Amino acid sequence: MPRRADDFGLLLHAARFAAWKHRHQRRKGAGRLPYINHPLDLAHALWFEGGVRDEIALAAAILHDTIEDTQTTLQELQGEFGAAVAKVVMETSDEPTVDWRVRKKLQITRVRTASQRARLVKLADKLCNLRSLVASPPQRWSLERQREYFDWAKRVVDELRGTNAELEARFDQIYRQRP
Ligand code: ZN
Repeated sequence: MPRRADDFGLLLHAARFAAWKHRHQRRKGAGRLPYINHPLDLAHALWFEGGVRDEIALAAAILHDTIEDTQTTLQELQGEFGAAVAKVVMETSDEPTVDWRVRKKLQITRVRTASQRARLVKLADKLCNLRSLVASPPQRWSLERQREYFDWAKRVVDELRGTNAELEARFDQIYRQRP
């Protein structure tokens, strides 16, 4: 694969790479959107709502679920996108082996010490996930599960306050639609 020539190249390369890696996956929501819509939503929100122009954060947003949800390795990301992008993706990936409840708790503690870039990606992730839940809740999710998710997302975002005022305001806006 060609190496990035510039920032645009980096983002195009990330979009193509993530689309390929997520090619067999769909979002959980009733709309069953292609998975790639989600990472693109994050990058879109960062750019258009958060005013973020940092190409490393934007590329990491596009790639943020590749390690966690596909066969992608850290080494692969380092080779394709460089150490800085790979580091942010690692920071935003859950530990794969632990029980999901433990994992969710760990996310809260881990964001406290995360880099600014990782905090931006996490913030956009929670914003976009709540939007997806409101627009198209997964069919098997009970009301209680949806509420739990909303509250947990808020706990993560509360640890991230001060990262990006606009994105935080957008998050609070969507949180008001908690079912
Ligand atoms: Zn995500």
